[in-house]
Formats: sequence, C-alpha cells, structure tokens
Amino acid sequence: MLEALPEKGVPGEQILAELRELRAADLPTHGGRLFAYVYDPALDGLDELARQAHAISAHVNGLDPTAFPSLLAMENALVGAAARLLGGDEETRGSVTSGGTESLILAVKAARDSRPELATPRLVIPSTAHAAFAKAAHYLRVALDVVPVGDDLRADPAATRAAITADTVLVAASAPSYAHGVVDPIPELAAIAAERGVRFHVDACFGGWVLPYLRRLGADLPAFDFGVPGVTSISVDLHKYAYAPKGVSLLLHRDEALRRPQYFAYAGWPGYTMINPVISSTRSGGPIAAAVATLRHIGDAGYLELAQQTRAAVATLAEAVRQTDGVRLFAPPETTVVCLSTSRHARDGFEAGDDSTSRAAGDGFEAGVDLFVLADELAARGWHTQPQMAYGEMPATIHLTVTAAVAATVGEFALDLADAVAAARAKGPADLPAPLLEAAAALTPEMVTPELIAGLADGLGLGGGDFTRMAAVNSLLNVAPPPLREALLTGFLSLLQRPAPPTE
Ligand SMILES: *Cc1c(COP(=O)(O)O)cnc(C)c1O
Repeated sequence: MLEALPEKGVPGEQILAELRELRAADLPTHGGRLFAYVYDPALDGLDELARQAHAISAHVNGLDPTAFPSLLAMENALVGAAARLLGGDEETRGSVTSGGTESLILAVKAARDSRPELATPRLVIPSTAHAAFAKAAHYLRVALDVVPVGDDLRADPAATRAAITADTVLVAASAPSYAHGVVDPIPELAAIAAERGVRFHVDACFGGWVLPYLRRLGADLPAFDFGVPGVTSISVDLHKYAYAPKGVSLLLHRDEALRRPQYFAYAGWPGYTMINPVISSTRSGGPIAAAVATLRHIGDAGYLELAQQTRAAVATLAEAVRQTDGVRLFAPPETTVVCLSTSRHARDGFEAGDDSTSRAAGDGFEAGVDLFVLADELAARGWHTQPQMAYGEMPATIHLTVTAAVAATVGEFALDLADAVAAARAKGPADLPAPLLEAAAALTPEMVTPELIAGLADGLGLGGGDFTRMAAVNSLLNVAPPPLREALLTGFLSLLQRPAPPTE
C-alpha cells in the first residue's frame, strides 16, 4: 500500500522505486502486444525526449497565454501543423484540449451555443459514433438522435438526412469509428448537413493523424478533412496516432466565427476575468510540450514510415484471422483496427438476427468458440485485446487497435491465435453458476446497490484484484441490457475507487 502523506517526507530515490514497482503490475505499454489504450511507435529515445520536454513545461499554466507565451507558441504550432495535415487553410482555427472527449464536448458546445434560440438543441450521430458524444449530450443537455448504421457498419446518409430537424445543431460522423475502424461516408454526410445549414463535425480523434498518411500510401479511403465542403470542425487526438504522451487532442474549426461560441468568458466576479477556450482553466504545459517534441522528432517522413509499418501489421493480423477457423473479421480492416468475432457470437447475434440481449451465456452453443474465453486465452499468451459487448444486432467482438510497434511482433500472432482458438473451443463457454445467472436475469438498474456489487464481485472472484480471467464477468455483462451494464460497471468502479487506509 502506498501512503501518499507520510508523516515525514520520503527520499526521492525510494519513491521512484515504489512507483516503478507499482507500474510493474500494469499492462505492458511497450512490446507490441497491447491492442488498446496505448499507442506505441517503438522509436528508441522518444519516451525520454517526451519526458524531458514534459518536465520543462510541467509547471507552466495555460490559464494565461500572455504570462506564458511559450505555451501560446506551442499551441499555435500544433494547431498549424494539424490544419495543414487536415486540409485546412489560413482561416482554420483550433484549440488544444486534454483529450478526444474534451474535443467532442467542445464541438457540441460550440454548435449548441451558436443557436441560443433553440429550447431543445439536438445532435445527430451514427450508432457507431464514440460514446463521448453521448457524454457531451448528457453534460450539455443536448438531445441525442442516434441513427442506425448500415450493414457495412457505416453511417447511412439517407437515414441521417431524415434525422435532421429544425432543432439539429450538429451532425457528426467518424473517420474512422473506434469500434470497427471503418470510415463513414464523410463527403455525402457533410453535403447533407450543409444543405440544411447545420454544422458537421468529423470525429477523427482516433485516425486523424494516420489517415492522411494511409491515403498517401494509396489506401482506398474517402476524403474526410477540410477539403470536403460542409465539414465545419474536426477533432484529432495527438495522444493516439501522433504518438504523444497522454493528455493532448485538438479541436479544429473551419474558421474563426465557427470557433467563437466554444469560448467561455466571465468578468462578473472580483477576481481575474476568466477567458477559457477549453474546459480546464488552469492546465499544465507538460503534455503540450511533450506533443510538440514528439511531432518535431518524428516529422512528416517519420509518420509516413510509421503508417506504412502499421498498415503492414494490420494486413498480417487480418490475414491471421482469415486463416483461423472459428474466428472471422467483423469489419473490413481498412484503417488501423482489426475487429473480429467468433462463429458462435456471429451465429447467435449478427447473422441469425437473434436478440442478443435475451441470450443466456453458454446456452445453445455447439462447436463454436466463446469470444470472451478467446480474449482470456489471448491474454494468457501475452496479447491484450479489447472485448466489445453485443450492441443491437451486432455480436460481441474483439477489438485490436494496431500501432506501429505491432509490426515487430505480428509474425508471432497467427500461431498464438490458432492456439488460443483451440483452447477456447476445448474449454467451452465461461462457467456462470446458474443461481448467479438467474439472479442477474431478474436485476434492474435500480436494484444495483453497493452491497449487491460487493457480493457479485466476490462471487465472480474479482475481490482480490486479479482481472486476468474475465470471461465469466464479460459474459454476464454481455447479456445484461445496456442500462444494467452501465449500473453494474459504475457500481464496480465505485467499489474500486475507495480511499486507501493509512499504512504508516
Ligand atoms: C479515443 C476516441 C475518442 C475519445 O478520446 P479520449 O482521448 O479517450 O477522451 C473519441 N472519438 C474517437 C473516435 C476515439 O477513438
């Protein structure tokens, strides 16, 4: 246990040793075997460079760029580089935010506040759009209109057109979607929004820094940037495919007027007049300096090379999935995501059109492969993937975010995948005690209390903090309707997030 406030201060060397020991329990952020959360270019010396740059600006405060012109210069440099990469011009404006979620919240806020006359502003998104849009709608009290995607997992232009009303302040789509890595038909959607006089946001948080390079390398991907008429804003996370350390994203607008309602200004108190372009007021220059260092060190040619490596790794992973009996590609591997499903879930959910939420884990399954058991088996072989729950007609899937570091290890994947599939097939579906399943089937979100969560966590073996075998938990969550899933996971996170007791 870690005592954050010891009675007497502790020597620095000891603290760093303690932190390193704590970090040893985390998933490996290097090594090309982690397919979510972390984006690794596997470039020697880059970590150290970013670390030093971060340290130089860690205590600089973005609250007031006139006091810290270094930060203003760095932010303008980042926005300028992104504007050039994404088809902008001298009219383009932008802001540095802390992450993709903040960029999206601000895109929605700017759209909402550009139409102050509306009592119920509305946001139109495809069902594959990132959850951060739902968060933005929730925080900002904007109504959310979710349009089902087509069989190709892409936003449906005709259905999007039909969803736009006089109250719509923003239409958004993804380039590409996080879950499946497919690019929405941005030119068609942007034209529809423009025709109705509505702002159109391209969420390129995930792919904004890699799609331009993939397109340069010849990938057959639609235009998605400011070169497309009707695109009014674009978000791009530098802490994803620009490979900067966490805490930096950009929100770009086509021009100054579009950006203006993003700002918050307040002079009605006795303190300093607060002018904030983003959600945080005081903010560290550390992540921004680290991002500048990362971009300058890798450079345009470096990003092209990394995109080439990533593209090759995606092709190898996708081929391994195609060659393995029992799994299949769920989405076309057209960008940097490989998304796969197992025959079992494909049959039960997507292809047969069953109602996946009424399906009890482990029933009616013959020689298939349980997706969640497969994810555990991959993890046991050192490949850390991201299971995604069933949604509507879509079965549960396994998501792989592929970054350049994967190129070095990808050759070993096919054998391990075949091996993991065989092991999952032999094991069968996760064992869920019948009483637990029955109890879960009768649960409603209102019934989820801290006591119930504590009991469930114990029953599922999560009490000890070992999260390596998650198939049973995931199977249970997968059959829970989304509101129950939300309540259970909120309860569980809340259970984890407790003040540590004193230890000294
Ligand atoms: C990651 C992501 C976001 C959210 O970004 P955070 O940095 O996690 O807040 C939004 N949209 C897409 C498409 C993403 O991939």
